[in-house]
Amino acid sequence: MTDGPIAVPVREGPCAACGKPGPFCVCAAIDPVPVRTRVLILQHPQEKTEILGTATIAAAQIAGANVRAGLSWRNLAAALGREADARRWAVLYLGPAKAPEGLADAVVAVDKAGAALPDQGAALAGLEGLVLLDGTWSQAKTLWWRNPWLLKCRRIVLFPKARSRYGTLRREPRREGLSTIEAAAVALSRIEGDPTLEARIVKPFEALLRKVRAGR
Ligand SMILES: [Zn+2]
Repeated sequence: MTDGPIAVPVREGPCAACGKPGPFCVCAAIDPVPVRTRVLILQHPQEKTEILGTATIAAAQIAGANVRAGLSWRNLAAALGREADARRWAVLYLGPAKAPEGLADAVVAVDKAGAALPDQGAALAGLEGLVLLDGTWSQAKTLWWRNPWLLKCRRIVLFPKARSRYGTLRREPRREGLSTIEAAAVALSRIEGDPTLEARIVKPFEALLRKVRAGR
């Protein structure tokens, strides 16, 4: 198996909880991880049927997280289903960004030009929530442009040290090469200052990959 989406024979409908077809259900590995930061995943409608998609399992594994499938929402409150101030939320930014010199962290807050902000601590402090765009690179860009309220959010960019656990199973769907659940895990670990979060959050994704690699 090299590049490209994989074809998995699927005879059963999706599990109501994790969204995966019967044999690929990862509910046994779901153990919601409590976090302070609210997570909102905006999912491109075409990503919903992707066997290796991770938005639904991320929403199940991260306590308080939500996934919304669609193309555009009037504002953050409409997407979230409750009042919220976009300026207190961050979005995983897709535009051009440069890793700062001597980069020590995998999560960098950037300005509108994609340059690292001078005071990273202040930029990442007091965040109420985090928006992630779920889909391929071009689908995520579509979501970005169709939701101009995202411009009000603080922008963060990931420069992960490790490659995606996808390996060769899926073409890298995001610029930084991580699945949505991995991106959420890396971002939350750094924002909340808890390095154990990452491994705990990605557990059901690792279970999914084991099943897919075993062909069941
Ligand atoms: Zn399930």
